[in-house]
Formats: sequence, structure tokens, C-alpha cells
Amino acid sequence: MIQENIARIRARMAEAARTAGRDPEEIQLCAASKMNDAAAVRAAVAAGADCCGENRVQELVQKQAQGAYDGAPVHFIGHLQTNKVRQVVGAVDLIQSVDRLDLLRCIQKEAAKRGVVQNILLEVNVGGEESKSGFSVREAAEVAAEMGGYSNVFLQGLMTIPPISRAPGGNRGYFAEMRNLFVDIGEKKYDNVNMVCLSMGMSDDYADAIAEGSTMIRVGTAIFGARHYMK
Ligand SMILES: *Cc1c(COP(=O)(O)O)cnc(C)c1O
Repeated sequence: MIQENIARIRARMAEAARTAGRDPEEIQLCAASKMNDAAAVRAAVAAGADCCGENRVQELVQKQAQGAYDGAPVHFIGHLQTNKVRQVVGAVDLIQSVDRLDLLRCIQKEAAKRGVVQNILLEVNVGGEESKSGFSVREAAEVAAEMGGYSNVFLQGLMTIPPISRAPGGNRGYFAEMRNLFVDIGEKKYDNVNMVCLSMGMSDDYADAIAEGSTMIRVGTAIFGARHYMK
């Protein structure tokens, strides 16, 4: 089932890219694997997911020990508490969900201690929702400008989770705003910044995100099926 799901998503990704006049090769598929076990994650990697995204540190550590991500990069995509940073820095290829300054500082400190450079994305709360963490568009631009001061952190782009859309296509404006921010920051050529990843689009809206310039979609339910939160 996972294999068929990924094949179907790839076909839709390619169609969305071509419709937008983009090369399908520019867009990566991140398997958002929260609450799915190591066997399911392995199946997604075998079926060609470009990377895996994990939300909880405990799940990350557990599945990593089980070799779930072998053969694919693993990204952290969930809310990261500062007291868990040391379990994540150096253990993942990319932390997509850097959503506040104290977390950024904490990652810098831990990466310096280990003598590594940690790749990150800034998470942007593009809808300005009270319930979500993340930088505002303006804050993200300011933080990017200051990245030269974080010598053990490398900024590779932006991530967003837009508001839940009531109508099909309802988030295209937010996706477009993200693309503009992504391009603007990239043009500034700041130190410790190389804007290559614009992570946006999930199971319900990835075609719209691709139409607006996403370079990475994070897909959970469309790959693995519905999550069973009571399990
Ligand atoms: C769960 C999750 C996804 C995937 O959501 P689906 O709607 O299941 O595709 C993407 N990004 C983040 C940060 C997530 O937590």
C-alpha cells in the first residue's frame, strides 16, 4: 500500500510541477512518519521517499536505533524543546522546525560543543495563528540577516504549516507569500545562508504548494494512511 501511495503522489507531484512549468526533479518528497513504525518507514524509503521527517524526539531516537531511516536522510519537523536539543543536533540532516530564537541559540551552542554544523530551516507562522509557533515573515527575514553570527548553524531555507484551509486552493496566497520571502532572503547572500529548501505542502494541499514554488512537500497520511492517535 505504501508503495502504491508513493507512486500516486509522485505522479501528482510531477503533474503539478509540469502544470506550473517546473521540473519535477526540483521537488522532494519527505515522508512525515510520526506514529508509524520502523517497518512502515522502511517501506517508504524503499519506495523512494527522498527523506523522512519525524516530529518527536523519542520516536526519532527509537526508530533511528531500529535502522528505520537507513538509506535516506532524516529531518526533524516537530516542535523541539530546548532540553532535547542535544539528542537531535548532529543526529539529523536537517532541523526544519526552528521556530524561535532561544531554540536557534541552543542549537548553535550544542553544535559548537560537538564541533558540527547543523543544517536548519526557519519555521514561519505565515498565517499569524495564535495556536502555532514560528517566526513571522518579518522576523524570519531579520533572523536570516543575522545568521552570520551563528557559526555552527547553516540556514538552508524555510518551512511552514499554513492555516487549515476551508476551501480547495485556500492557502495559495500563503504559499506565494512564503515563496517571495524565500526568494528575497536568497537574493541577499547572507553569511551561513543558502536558500535551497522551501518546505511546504502536506497531504491535502501539496499540489497547490508546488504550484507556488515548494521544493519539498511533507506528506504523512497520503503515504501511511490515517494516524491512530488513541493507539
Ligand atoms: C504530520 C505532519 C505533516 C504531514 O501531515 P499530513 O497531513 O498527514 O500529510 C507535515 N508536516 C508536519 C510538520 C507534520 O507534523
